[in-house]
Amino acid sequence: MNTMFPQKGLHWKLLERELWESRMADAPWRHGSTYMYWPDPGDNLHLVAKEAATILYNHRLLGRTGNPSALKVETEVKQMVLEILGAPEGAATTLTAGGTESNYHAVKVARDWAREHLPEARAPEVVTPYTAHPSFDKAAQILDMKIVRVPVGADFRADVGAMAEAIGANTVMLVGSSPAFPHGRIDPIAEIAALAQERGLRCHVDACVGGFLVPFLRKLGRELENFDFAIPGVSSISADLHKFGLAPTGISSFSLRDDADLAHQRFAFDNWPYGSYATDTFAGSRNASAVAGAWAVMKHLGEDGYLEKARDIVRITDLLQSGIEAIDGLKLVAPPEAGIVLYGADGFDIVAVADGLDARGFKSRWCKEPPSIHLLVSPLQDEQIVVEYLDALAGVVAEVKAGTIKRKSQEAIYA
Ligand SMILES: *Cc1c(COP(=O)(O)O)cnc(C)c1O
Repeated sequence: MNTMFPQKGLHWKLLERELWESRMADAPWRHGSTYMYWPDPGDNLHLVAKEAATILYNHRLLGRTGNPSALKVETEVKQMVLEILGAPEGAATTLTAGGTESNYHAVKVARDWAREHLPEARAPEVVTPYTAHPSFDKAAQILDMKIVRVPVGADFRADVGAMAEAIGANTVMLVGSSPAFPHGRIDPIAEIAALAQERGLRCHVDACVGGFLVPFLRKLGRELENFDFAIPGVSSISADLHKFGLAPTGISSFSLRDDADLAHQRFAFDNWPYGSYATDTFAGSRNASAVAGAWAVMKHLGEDGYLEKARDIVRITDLLQSGIEAIDGLKLVAPPEAGIVLYGADGFDIVAVADGLDARGFKSRWCKEPPSIHLLVSPLQDEQIVVEYLDALAGVVAEVKAGTIKRKSQEAIYA
């Protein structure tokens, strides 16, 4: 007998109440966490995205079944992505389900590109800094390839010399992140790209976090390393719209400098009764609603809007930085560059601090190496919540030092 799947369908009003009730257990969005870019701010931008997503609710993106409305938002979002990433003529972008899929395409394109351009690389490998996202290894597992992770420098940025040493006969691509998730540092992309170019390899930039933040921070005059297609050796870029692009969850982008490389990404097939079938994405049928949400957010904010959000991030980051540094024993692990703030403790257990913050409603994430609390700055959180966070933090640190809060968590978890 079914215990979950009802025999008789239930009234929507009942289900609606159940959903809202279950939502009450969720962390309040203002308190934020690693994954909550903007779950429910209830602000204007959220409403715009939600309404746009609803208008194209369940519209499908797939070849000939595509609706003109869905194709329109997809085409326009792609064009905006390419403009923001400084793409040259002849570049191409694909809207994917998320950063994991975008990085998958980078690895797949490298493998198939190498079959043509580097036939001596029989067991293709990708060289990444140790800080690169696990999605590269996930892709490599699927594609039967190998990821060679190279230790980073003391500043947590890619060690380009060490990457050069790791290049072997099977290497087909180098990767850099802008920024890498664990420490929020931007790798020296220009150096990595130059090395790739010199060795005749591909260079992929994982800008899943910074793709729609770093360009605007740079326009505000922040001195951050560039990562985009203005750097000649960059072959492809992943950039998540559902992170600092502020779009609803379920949309990222994978861009290629040269649209000829789409041939290495595309799946095209003809050997069945229905005739020709081709997709550039992992999924077949895709829902256009996240694309419509992204379209509305990008058009509604415009460049000025993203600059404003970038300014908010700088302001909140500075506030966090000075507040954290004012607490005795806490120190930033690295200078915050693009939306990630990381701090550790001197002389007491930072994991216990994370547990204490959890108990006060600030769900904390922490990084294992070095042990530190990992914050993702949301441009949709106001200064008031930062003040409340810092207040809670000071209280928790005092309790950890006094021994009244002890560590509960055992391991860093990213799941
Ligand atoms: C989030 C992230 C990804 C993966 O993105 P998903 O959208 O979770 O699939 C890839 N790279 C970096 C650096 C990330 O932070």
